[in-house]
Amino acid sequence: MPDTARYWAFFFPSLLFFGIVKSMTPYMTNDIPDTNPNRIFALLPDITEHDKDLITRACHFAEKAHEGQLRNSGEPYYNHVFATGINLATLRMDAETIAAGIMHDVLEDTKVTAEEMDKEFGGTIVCLVQGVTKLGKLKYSGTERHVESLRKFFVAMADDIRVVVIKLCDRLHNIQTLQYVPKEKQRRIALETLEIHARLANRLGMGRLKAQLEDAAFPYVYPEEYKKTIELFESVRPISDGQLEKVVHTLEEELVIFDVEIRQIDYRVKHLYSLWQKLKRYKMDVSKVHDIVALRIIVPNVGDCYQALGVIHGLYRPVPSRFKDYIAVPKPNGYKSLHTTIFSGDGSTLEIQIRTKEMHIEAEYGIASHLSYKELGKSGSKEEVIKKTGWTKELLEWQKGEEHHQDFMKNLKSDFFENRVFVFTPKGDVIDLPEGSTPIDFSYAVHSDVGDHTAGAKVNGKLVPLDTVLQNKDIVEIDIKENSSPRRKWLDMSKTTMAKRHIRAYIKEHGGALDKFLTR
Ligand code: MN
Repeated sequence: MPDTARYWAFFFPSLLFFGIVKSMTPYMTNDIPDTNPNRIFALLPDITEHDKDLITRACHFAEKAHEGQLRNSGEPYYNHVFATGINLATLRMDAETIAAGIMHDVLEDTKVTAEEMDKEFGGTIVCLVQGVTKLGKLKYSGTERHVESLRKFFVAMADDIRVVVIKLCDRLHNIQTLQYVPKEKQRRIALETLEIHARLANRLGMGRLKAQLEDAAFPYVYPEEYKKTIELFESVRPISDGQLEKVVHTLEEELVIFDVEIRQIDYRVKHLYSLWQKLKRYKMDVSKVHDIVALRIIVPNVGDCYQALGVIHGLYRPVPSRFKDYIAVPKPNGYKSLHTTIFSGDGSTLEIQIRTKEMHIEAEYGIASHLSYKELGKSGSKEEVIKKTGWTKELLEWQKGEEHHQDFMKNLKSDFFENRVFVFTPKGDVIDLPEGSTPIDFSYAVHSDVGDHTAGAKVNGKLVPLDTVLQNKDIVEIDIKENSSPRRKWLDMSKTTMAKRHIRAYIKEHGGALDKFLTR
């Protein structure tokens, strides 16, 4: 049962029985170690025999490859990759993605080679798995600059956006089983989940996944705040279940009269992490948060949304300035809905969200809904869909996000119109540089001392000249010598302002004698 539903069941037990249709999704939980492929098929009503076969083969392949390996929990390792497959099926991803998800750790953690997998499953699936493996090599150090380049890197790396979706589903299971990971690693992994994965999920419009990632990471990163938030949550009872039931019945009756068909009416309880985010804005005053519980009404089309809003405002007095038209002005991540808060009649207030089925699916699954089993299954349009929903748009949205709003134009210009390359240190740290950068730029980006003592460079294990232009995904190793120093010609061999500034400073400081030496 999702956490939100659990809390709801705790506070408003009767609600579970009085007939509100609930949109619950059976995410993998630890207590069901059943790894039968039928559990995946059950999530994909339209699945073909061909795809069943593909997924079944992937299951057998992964199970055999991981044989004997155990998770920290003591479970077979295979349980983890199967859970990743379940998470992908819950998002209704296409069969290739699910198969790749089930095999996502095979190349990294077992003896199986890419060639062997290619023979069995073909190039696309191997590419997806390799993409996930590469993302897995990224290290997270937690500094702001690093977080930023890591996020961009995620974006730039994934030639196929499905790689990112697999990675997020992989992370979801890892963070939901974090209690088994050694204590000293937990906080770092959880923080990384909040800063990278959850934000990425949000940027891709995957609201449900974002909420799950955040709530699982929350207690590990901010244990005190987590406890406090639960306390506050438990201290409020925004609306009684009786009153909520009344509102639902009234709406059901009245909307029919006004010719609005209710396709679905349910509620959602704000997830804990987002409640905390909001509480922080209101100095932890929980009485200021009006959307702890929200009623959601799904209607057939956009016209019905406004019609329903009119009916609701006719029935209940709206709380002033609590109305938001995200249909006319969607959120940066594409979220659409009408939000209003009403006085429900007994002194309590209630947020109501009105949207169409399409808006609802988009809000819950985001980009995944475009990559879904159904969409990708349609006439060979797969490549087109992937392209259409591909990175260009997402990149822009990404940069447009709340935290970057004021710098949007600046960032857009420097980061995306001037292309970046993303390269690795031998340890797996990511360095992002402008296109055309060389090992000299790389070494100054690592540290000015490294730059000033650069003697040579290896790219992907091979010695190269210092003016070699670096390519995306290169692994760069710098040879440092105590007696090496910057040369004047490095100015022409470097691209970044930072490198050039250091080189000039060095030459200036060490004056003419060196100049002679440098120009020989
Ligand atoms: Mn994994």
